[in-house]
Amino acid sequence: MKICRYDDNRLGVVDGADVLDVSAVLQELSSCRYPLPHHDMLVEALPRLLPAIEAMKPRAKRTPVDAVKLLAPVANPGKVIAAPVNYTKHLQEVLGDANLHHDNQINHIERAGLFLKAVSSLEGMSRGVELSHPERRNDPELELVAVIGRVAKNVDVADALAYVAGYCIGLDMTIRGPEERSFRKSPDTYTVLGPWLVTADELPDAGALDMSLHVNGEVRQRANTRDLILGVPQLIAFASSFYTLHPGDLIYTGTPEGVAAIKAGDRLVGTIDRIGTLDVRIVGGAQ
Ligand code: MN
Repeated sequence: MKICRYDDNRLGVVDGADVLDVSAVLQELSSCRYPLPHHDMLVEALPRLLPAIEAMKPRAKRTPVDAVKLLAPVANPGKVIAAPVNYTKHLQEVLGDANLHHDNQINHIERAGLFLKAVSSLEGMSRGVELSHPERRNDPELELVAVIGRVAKNVDVADALAYVAGYCIGLDMTIRGPEERSFRKSPDTYTVLGPWLVTADELPDAGALDMSLHVNGEVRQRANTRDLILGVPQLIAFASSFYTLHPGDLIYTGTPEGVAAIKAGDRLVGTIDRIGTLDVRIVGGAQ
């Protein structure tokens, strides 16, 4: 099932070229009081809500996908975890270009570890990316994103896929420069997620998906997730050996080679096989 959030926080199921409005199922979520939980309540409840969503589909209101504003499919992740250099060719590209590494120490991912992006940087594709420092080099990084479905701590690689709720496409927007990654990658709108969440039952093997990023119609990145240094199971095992993972936590799996600068006005189209296409505008920001 392809689950989306759209317009004024409606919940939808994508069926071909249409969105089916299943927002009524959100009433099943427990109301919560301060302090709020560290997880996304919808993703946590999804296993028990899916039968009700399925039952609502035949009578649900249909709207063309093209006519709605797609929001981030996960509204309240507790963490946005990201892999730094997780494709060999991208590692080589970064090591060979001072404009990319800026004398930051670049290590193999198992030495570098993972990093966190601010959850306030999360946006869906309809919003567009608002450049934070347009005078500096800004790069889009196309990434497969795994959404955690249940609490995970010290998970074995062999069991890790059982903790995945589904997959999305992500853009890890990045200001190049000498500062810490989390600082350069966390301005508002710099973590794009969409277009919807494909539940894991539809995508049992996310380890062999073609992906591409076009900017203004020209291909910038073209790769396959089989070339990930650490695949989704290994990333979940690695991350959960440090953090407890909660439902709704996002793992941005890293970007392949072909990073390059973008500017205000550009149109980014990122596609991952069997998930869909992100279509994102870059809008100018105040300097
Ligand atoms: Mn990245």
